[in-house]
Amino acid sequence: METVTPYKEIIDVIKSSGGEAFKRCFQCGLCDTVCPWNRVTTFSMRKLVREATFGLTDIESEDIWRCTTCGRCPQQCPRDVKQIESGVALRRIATEYGVFPAPVKTIRTISAGLVGQGNPFGEDREKRAAWAEGLSVKPFAEGMEILYFPGCYPSYDPRLKKVARATANILKTAGVDFGILGPSENCCGESIRKAGDEELFKRLAKDNIKTFVDHGVKKILVSSPHCYHTFQKRVS
Ligand code: SF4
Ligand code: SF4
Repeated sequence: METVTPYKEIIDVIKSSGGEAFKRCFQCGLCDTVCPWNRVTTFSMRKLVREATFGLTDIESEDIWRCTTCGRCPQQCPRDVKQIESGVALRRIATEYGVFPAPVKTIRTISAGLVGQGNPFGEDREKRAAWAEGLSVKPFAEGMEILYFPGCYPSYDPRLKKVARATANILKTAGVDFGILGPSENCCGESIRKAGDEELFKRLAKDNIKTFVDHGVKKILVSSPHCYHTFQKRVS
């Protein structure tokens, strides 16, 4: 296993990311028992935690990218080891050095799409409201009751556009005064943050917050749980 000498950097980054909880791990292995990955392959969060505690993490390993942040093992952990936060900290180091193993190399393309077009697909920003074609959905304006923020997938994915359209139809039928941001909407950034690119996440969050403030947004309705989590926990 290739390691980074003297490993202090890894320990420091984990600490600065609130990952000191790794130290509390007493290696019971419960996380590996409950992790869904172990139904299909071998993956040990317990081992990652142990290695990170001593700064022995191999940042070129695919393992640091494997956790889907499903949240199952933190719920079960008897020592409140914050596996997700600390796992993300390891990815942050890899991202900083541009070290992406083959299965996650697409992160570079995704990041370029987020920077250039505000969505991970690299789709045209100007077409972000195309899902609403024919529905007479208004652009959000100050004084409206609700901002509907569909997020990236419901804005661009052919199947999930149906969710955005159905939501708009429900709001209209219920007589809710709502609008959308269209091309001014940016990805909430939750996935790129969990992929370790904190800087890009902050940039997206800053742009979204500025747009909300400029438009006098008071209430936001989202379709995506990722947007919900981000707006509740990260940018509120
Ligand atoms: S469940 Fe918690 S204490 Fe047990 S091995 Fe996993 S991280 Fe460590
Ligand atoms: S949070 Fe990650 S390591 Fe924990 S159970 Fe889910 S996928 Fe496995």
